[in-house]
Amino acid sequence: LFSAVEMAPRDPILGLTEAFNADPRPNKVNLGVGVYYNEEGRIPLLRAVADVEKSRLEIQAPRGYLPVDGIAAYSTVVQKLLFGQNSSLLEEGRVVTAQSLGGTGALKVGADFLKRLLPDATVAISDPSWENHRALFQSAGYPVKNYRYYDASSHDVDRTGMLADLNELPPRSIVVLHACCHNPTGVDLAPEDWKKIIDVLKARDHVPFVDIAYQGFGDGIEEDALAVRLFAESGMSFVISSSFSKSFSLYGERVGAISLVTQNRDESARVLSQIKRVIRTNYSNPPIHGASIVSSVLNSSELRAIWEVELAEMRQRIHRIRLEMVRQLAAKGVQQDFSFVSRQRGMFSFSGLNIDQVDQLRNDYGVYIVGTGRICAAALNTRNLDYVTDAIVQVLGR
Ligand code: PMP
Repeated sequence: LFSAVEMAPRDPILGLTEAFNADPRPNKVNLGVGVYYNEEGRIPLLRAVADVEKSRLEIQAPRGYLPVDGIAAYSTVVQKLLFGQNSSLLEEGRVVTAQSLGGTGALKVGADFLKRLLPDATVAISDPSWENHRALFQSAGYPVKNYRYYDASSHDVDRTGMLADLNELPPRSIVVLHACCHNPTGVDLAPEDWKKIIDVLKARDHVPFVDIAYQGFGDGIEEDALAVRLFAESGMSFVISSSFSKSFSLYGERVGAISLVTQNRDESARVLSQIKRVIRTNYSNPPIHGASIVSSVLNSSELRAIWEVELAEMRQRIHRIRLEMVRQLAAKGVQQDFSFVSRQRGMFSFSGLNIDQVDQLRNDYGVYIVGTGRICAAALNTRNLDYVTDAIVQVLGR
């Protein structure tokens, strides 16, 4: 049966972590990861999360099955985070939400649902994008194209290229957009860019699929939801995948949600029934623990306030370390202007380092970076930064 099975290609980022773990050098640094580390170099367990876990343990809750679409109170708070406390869309019953296995699960459920609705559509993702976007939509049966996004020479968005490519896609294409904290570049769209993009998507009848995996990591919870709010105002129907892996530091608990904005309450009921069908035939129903933590935190004004402070701490620490990296590189005599690093948002930074420099950093200094030059700024701290900037200075000077 399995004799003809070929070996699947290795995941480049997991391979990098394996090589890092096997490296005996004591001052090695792994900047290839996709998680937030605190100043001590550890994945934090947020206090708001620990508090809920403690009380959950005390009540010894039974572990029956959740409904197919998950915890209802969780879906309500997810919608409020996305659309705001007093959104008219929510009052009109135009949004349906189902709990999902992380942001990845939301993307897959959304892709499988859309495939039944728009079997011949094209999916477009940014160039570059989170590496799983392409594979995920391909595995749902879609052809996946790139639209221009990152301009390496300006370290900014290629606005003209992006709009032109979105215009040239076949009408009614599915366009995947990063709401904030673009992975892997850290380069985000400005409010006026979103307005232009929405105009093009509307004119071409495209289907927006907004991926929001870092709400609160960019400029703030409300600020980072701007794209979602603008799409909501546009009157379009669209899909959103949310992840709480980073904002609650709950990576392994798989907490996410898929939300779909429809035209009316009646459409919502029909859409949710189909989403439930996709979930039912995949994994039946979602796990309890992570989503109950998120809904308990967000439904308690006390815990929510604690969480907001903790989220702001993570966001501000990343921003400080970015500024310090830029300052150190300049202070150590690097001629090249690295100030773009401080304008990037979220955990990741396209550093502009080329593949030779990335190889040298790894081989000569034990500093591990993804081949594209993507650095996880959230893995830098005041203890490893000096060593990392020294190493960068050395490879730039060669
Ligand atoms: N979308 C983007 C843009 C991401 O960066 C990630 C995770 N790194 C995800 C989705 C998936 O999130 P999760 O880990 O919650 O599945």
